[in-house]
Amino acid sequence: MLTPSVQAPFPMQWGFSTRLDEEADLPERKLNQIHRCGVVEATDAVVDADGLWTTQTGLRIGVRVADCVPILLAGPLTGGRPWAAALHAGWRGATGHGDPTPGGGILRRAVARYRSLGGDPATLAWALGPAILKCCFEVGDEVIAAARLDPAWDEELTSLGPSGKQHLDLHGFLTAQALDLGLSPVNDGSLAYCTGCRPDLLYSFRRGETTGRQWGWIEIG
Ligand SMILES: [Zn+2]
Repeated sequence: MLTPSVQAPFPMQWGFSTRLDEEADLPERKLNQIHRCGVVEATDAVVDADGLWTTQTGLRIGVRVADCVPILLAGPLTGGRPWAAALHAGWRGATGHGDPTPGGGILRRAVARYRSLGGDPATLAWALGPAILKCCFEVGDEVIAAARLDPAWDEELTSLGPSGKQHLDLHGFLTAQALDLGLSPVNDGSLAYCTGCRPDLLYSFRRGETTGRQWGWIEIG
């Protein structure tokens, strides 16, 4: 289990599982992840969405990933009530591409929800977990075109790889969004492990592992 490298804002647990962890220690599956931008309050139901949030103590929520970025958020609402969220962001989730509703990528929507509940983004502790990093994330032109539509886009987030194709820095792109949204670099506990480079530790869909996943999970209390 890898733990975000930042102080939690209230009593809670959070982490990113690796292939070395037991499934039994991970959350119950509550999401059918569809590479869109829906972020919903966690209930007993299984829903088609890519992010969950909760204010409940003792409810472990999470997303499953194998190259996409798991994002964990934790911060106080008005009056100090804890709020926590777990998001799944591949390039579609990060850009909002293909989602029929307006609002940008999934991180933008989750922070908007936090604000709507009375949270101040500057107080959010946040962490991007293990994912396919710039070294290994070769993408097509449509991916870069979608990312360019985001107000936080910077051309330095793409570079040409050894085969002459573009590589996207998805972690860097989401970090740029986070800062644009008012999250603080001081509260950034991201872990830059590459799923493509660490077969010893992490599952990677692109490497041909179509079933194994790691979890990004969080639990208040
Ligand atoms: Zn890599």
